[in-house]
Amino acid sequence: MIDQTKNTNPAQPVEQNTVRNNKRVVIHGIAASPGLAYGQVFVFERKTVEVNQRIVEPEEAEEEIDRLRQAIQRSEKELNKILSFAEQKIGNAKARIFEAQIMFLHDPVIIDQIVERIRTERLNAESAVYSELSKYQQQMLDADESYMQERADDIEDVKHRILRNIQQERLFSRFKGTAIVVAKNLSPADAILLSRNDVLGYATDRGGITSHTALLSRSLKIPAVVGLTRISSDANTGDEMILDGYSGTAIIRPNKTDVEKYIEKQRRYALFEKKLTVLRDLPAETKDGRQIILSANADLEEELDYVGFQGAEGIGLFRSESLLIGRDTFPTEDEQYEAYWLAAEKVYPHDVVLRVFDIGGDKVYPLAIEENNPFLGWRGIRILLDRPELLKTQLRAMFRASLKKNVKILLPMISGVSEISATLNHIRDVKEEFHSKNIPFDKNMQVGAMIEVPSAAILAKEIARLVDFLSIGTNDLIQYLLAVDRGNPTITKLFQEFHPAVLRMIQHTIDGGHKRKVPVGMCGEMAGDPIATILLVGMGIDSLSVVPSVLPEVKKIIRSVNYKEAAKISRRALTMGTPEEVFGYLKKTLKTKLPDVPLG
Ligand code: PEP
Ligand code: MG
Repeated sequence: MIDQTKNTNPAQPVEQNTVRNNKRVVIHGIAASPGLAYGQVFVFERKTVEVNQRIVEPEEAEEEIDRLRQAIQRSEKELNKILSFAEQKIGNAKARIFEAQIMFLHDPVIIDQIVERIRTERLNAESAVYSELSKYQQQMLDADESYMQERADDIEDVKHRILRNIQQERLFSRFKGTAIVVAKNLSPADAILLSRNDVLGYATDRGGITSHTALLSRSLKIPAVVGLTRISSDANTGDEMILDGYSGTAIIRPNKTDVEKYIEKQRRYALFEKKLTVLRDLPAETKDGRQIILSANADLEEELDYVGFQGAEGIGLFRSESLLIGRDTFPTEDEQYEAYWLAAEKVYPHDVVLRVFDIGGDKVYPLAIEENNPFLGWRGIRILLDRPELLKTQLRAMFRASLKKNVKILLPMISGVSEISATLNHIRDVKEEFHSKNIPFDKNMQVGAMIEVPSAAILAKEIARLVDFLSIGTNDLIQYLLAVDRGNPTITKLFQEFHPAVLRMIQHTIDGGHKRKVPVGMCGEMAGDPIATILLVGMGIDSLSVVPSVLPEVKKIIRSVNYKEAAKISRRALTMGTPEEVFGYLKKTLKTKLPDVPLG
């Protein structure tokens, strides 16, 4: 949960100088990490390092190589510091991004090439570094895949670091007091370095919900809004700003009413959160006794304790792709086993739902593929069925982690029954292998299908015949059903979870599963939207897996309604023709039933 106490000491308004833009500006972006912040802006700008190409005298070449080597050494020292700081703050898995950067500094092919160019072309050190690394970076950008783009950003970071160190410049990342950090984009190293200050929030021009800034701020529990397109040019250091990590809004130079509203909203959240702590050990049960399994989405080791602390009944979605962050190779069976076993142990006696790698789309993966439409391409189960050795290694690790009988397996990007049958064949093979080798595992381990492709939703009943549970992934289901790229900030408004077509598809899926007596849950972001809770309960959802920070709020809503009444509300919502109508109706209903729930 966000440390609300940080926000209670807003910065004092600064004197505006005359050249500054003094106008109030409101910008909507993507809510990347929940929480509220109010304070002064610190615009973080990387000083551009000027690179002048110079041809050096033959006898100077060795001196330039020396400058290069010293700069590499200094860069390594800086990165090592960041790495150990990151390990403490965000855990080993995410800190691996920096290990990759350190390894890059040691890459003999790249470094030798730079040295070679200094010797043969007699370039000064900075222009050789600039030219060689830019070339490399361009190759990554040309690959036209989000994973490679991220690598290009990493190289930019390394390039900038070496150049700065050649010129012996220091990076300015410290500020006094508290501030909301505003930047064009933040590299992971920037975010980590800046977090040594008292950061109230992060606001960036670039970035999507899965960007480094978003991931790191969620781990650091700092409110963040990304994709604000022009915040770095509209805000000045010292300006006042309100940042709302719940609604994804930034208000630069807020007026008195904005500030009053902010204070009120913060007060309501603080009060509400205090009340929620008493719910921790109570079940998510409606007033008339319908039990909903309320679990959390968690991917990383360091999130596991927080999940329990929030009163989650296990992990409803463990995105195993998180094991791939910052890696160029797939983890071994043993490495995977350790991660899965740890999760299973931590949540015991509750369950953990381990999803097999959902690579492709916008997610990092160590396979190099070039596709025009990665979201419609080689992704999730499609890759695993084409590369059965990857799937089987992962299944073996999951089987080994199932000894406490609390592991379930989830299959992503299912579009029809044949993918399920094919995967079940591999599962059967691994079972036989384990039997023949006498390796113990849970023979009744459940297998479920993600319902996130519209064709799978339509075939929910048929799919349910083959699996033990269904889990609706609204992040993708909405994207594919409404043809709205989930990561595109320009069309965020069109990503509508209350679109009548979405509601009908969810209802169809729940009914399909129930016809086969198969439980149906939801693990997309919609599961954690308090406005959607009554609707989903009324539709008959059996379980919700939500981001841990909103879990108590969702539980409170479930415990405050009657299932029969919720069913009536859902039926009415399903007759409505527009997302606005549905949203307005649900918001009003919730407000009437639970006046103290702070909404958006
Ligand atoms: C989803 O698509 O809703 C989902 C939970 O999976 P992911 O966000 O990992 O694609
Ligand atoms: Mg998905």
